[in-house]
Amino acid sequence: MNISVVIPLYNEEESLGELEAWIRRVMEANNFSYEIIMVDDGSKDASWSEIEKLKKLNPHVKGIKFRRNYGKSAALHVGFQAAQGDVVITMDADLQDPPERIPDMLAAWRKGADVVLMKRRTRAGESWLKRLTAHLFYRLINRISDAPIPVDTGDFRLMSRRTVDALNRLPERNRYLKGMFAWVGMPTVT
Ligand code: UDP
Ligand code: MG
Repeated sequence: MNISVVIPLYNEEESLGELEAWIRRVMEANNFSYEIIMVDDGSKDASWSEIEKLKKLNPHVKGIKFRRNYGKSAALHVGFQAAQGDVVITMDADLQDPPERIPDMLAAWRKGADVVLMKRRTRAGESWLKRLTAHLFYRLINRISDAPIPVDTGDFRLMSRRTVDALNRLPERNRYLKGMFAWVGMPTVT
């Protein structure tokens, strides 16, 4: 079984080295075969030269570079198209998502889940404004959305190959990924 880790990133030069080392530690400790796809969403800092260094250090690292900042959804979309794994895991580049949880995510997938969402226990470190706007956003979107959108789950998630294939077949150009996951409707656990 192959794991693709897809990471959209914008101006994350400071965390990329630590992120790669952290993921590599978990993958090697568990004997997983894997690729890390880092999608540089038009960073203005040294993120891309960091990625080039990491590619030399670790042949499992792949890099994609956007000419300008297209936004996280576009970066994820391109990462999903490049990913070759039997499962695809997405995470932030800013070290907020612990790769130690990956074996648990795989266990849930083996039990039959196509999508495994990771939920934050707390939003510690986020301002009251961010918490309030997040709360209001989910209330609003769930009033107007036909497919329920899970609350307070971030972008740390696992998807089965058939889920990624289904997403890759959707022709939307303005992609609200959380809504698209919900619309595709695969068996999901949190
Ligand atoms: N990101 C990106 N393009 C952007 C903005 C953010 O690829 O235009 C990346 C960012 O580097 C991070 C992920 O998307 O890896 C989530 O961003 P952030 O951590 O700022 O979001 P939050 O955790 O606050 O939802
Ligand atoms: Mg983040």
